[in-house]
Amino acid sequence: MTLNAAPAIAFTQPDGPANYAAACRRYPAQAIVDLKTLRDNMRHLVSVAGDGAAVMGVVKADAYGHGLLPAALAALAGGATWLGTAQSHEALLLRRLGIGPDRARILTWVYNGAAAPFDELIEADIDVSVGSLDGIDALAAAARRVGRPARVHVKCDTGFGRNGFTPAAFDQALAKLAPLAHEGVFDIVGQWSHLAVADSPDVPEFVASTDRQIEAFHDFTRRMRAAGIPPRIRHLANTAATLDRPEIHFELVRPGVGLYGYEPDPAMGTPGDYKLRPAMTLQAQLGTVKDVEAGHGISYGRTYLTPDSTSTAIVPLGYADGIHRSASGFDMAGAKHVEKLGGPVRVMTARGPRLYRVSGRVCMDQFIIDLHGSAAELDVHEGDTVELFGPGRGEMFAEPTADDWARAADTISYEVFTCLRNRIPRLYEHADVLPEADRALLDPASLL
Ligand SMILES: *Cc1c(COP(=O)(O)O)cnc(C)c1O
Repeated sequence: MTLNAAPAIAFTQPDGPANYAAACRRYPAQAIVDLKTLRDNMRHLVSVAGDGAAVMGVVKADAYGHGLLPAALAALAGGATWLGTAQSHEALLLRRLGIGPDRARILTWVYNGAAAPFDELIEADIDVSVGSLDGIDALAAAARRVGRPARVHVKCDTGFGRNGFTPAAFDQALAKLAPLAHEGVFDIVGQWSHLAVADSPDVPEFVASTDRQIEAFHDFTRRMRAAGIPPRIRHLANTAATLDRPEIHFELVRPGVGLYGYEPDPAMGTPGDYKLRPAMTLQAQLGTVKDVEAGHGISYGRTYLTPDSTSTAIVPLGYADGIHRSASGFDMAGAKHVEKLGGPVRVMTARGPRLYRVSGRVCMDQFIIDLHGSAAELDVHEGDTVELFGPGRGEMFAEPTADDWARAADTISYEVFTCLRNRIPRLYEHADVLPEADRALLDPASLL
């Protein structure tokens, strides 16, 4: 019998168990995404947004690594009416995969005016952000070619310093935008901007800088109105502001990470504090398990020496899978003593679940954990399923989350799940929460 440290899988599809077994044969690690959790997270965000504001599910970067189409459909099932992707390729893909304009408006915002698929975007009824004069010219040329107005959201740089018109450059933009709108080349749908700091109510300078961004946002709105192109849909709030700043929900909010079940910044608390639940579980099946002597060097660079005689186990995931090398764990006894905790792994043992840490350097396809004891006594074996992160069930379960991996790798949860490569099978629980027609759009081999 192999032990399993991951949550029990809720199979709802007839082929679910066979799909699961096939995925385990194909690859010794799996990312399991619960569509019900995604739907419920979106439902919660929709209720927080209230009656006044619509909700855009931000599904950029393959839905933060969760799978573009499954996550988009779960977001729609939860009440989102908009979807957002940074890259225009993903916006077009959503339409091509079956999400028509009757189901959702889609906004996209990353491109360069010189080589963007504007014709296709306009034909696919996708809303486009403009934040540069070159972008305006290129999009207008495409709208004229296609013979249909482009739906435009004007991006304003209120202090983030990324895309969008600065206040100083905005008169020039308005001088181009207003005539295009009056000519019917552009349909000026929205005005938008992005916040620079996850709102931490306890850090006054962050609150103050967000306040300044909001003031600037209102200024941009006033200038658009004065120019005769009032925005119908204003949007500024990411997950943090959707949760914390009801006064800036305007007509639309754009939560991303909250859909996947995480708070934007651990400084804000834990997902549970916001009624969110992480939707992804990353698990793997152990490779070689063996006994080693005390003082045995583990992995490249001998940055970890076994403190005692012990057993080690191979976790078959490495930086080529998106496991950060910076989540390596060091413990070198002796003169050059360095201690740094590696990323956590939940292992089921004869004595219940235990949390271990990456021991030594993360390699390309694998890393090693020191079991701090005899594998035979712990009843840990090759083939056991271990869990890198999951929904984060409380103390007794010792279940790590992507926030724990983020801490170990000195990054943020967003990067932990977006980095997971697609060679790791994505499997979906609770496809039964989707309407049948939506379920039929998904890869049947991915449903559990
Ligand atoms: C990613 C992104 C969001 C979502 O941010 P979260 O912090 O994940 O909620 C919203 N708007 C824009 C422009 C983004 O790039």
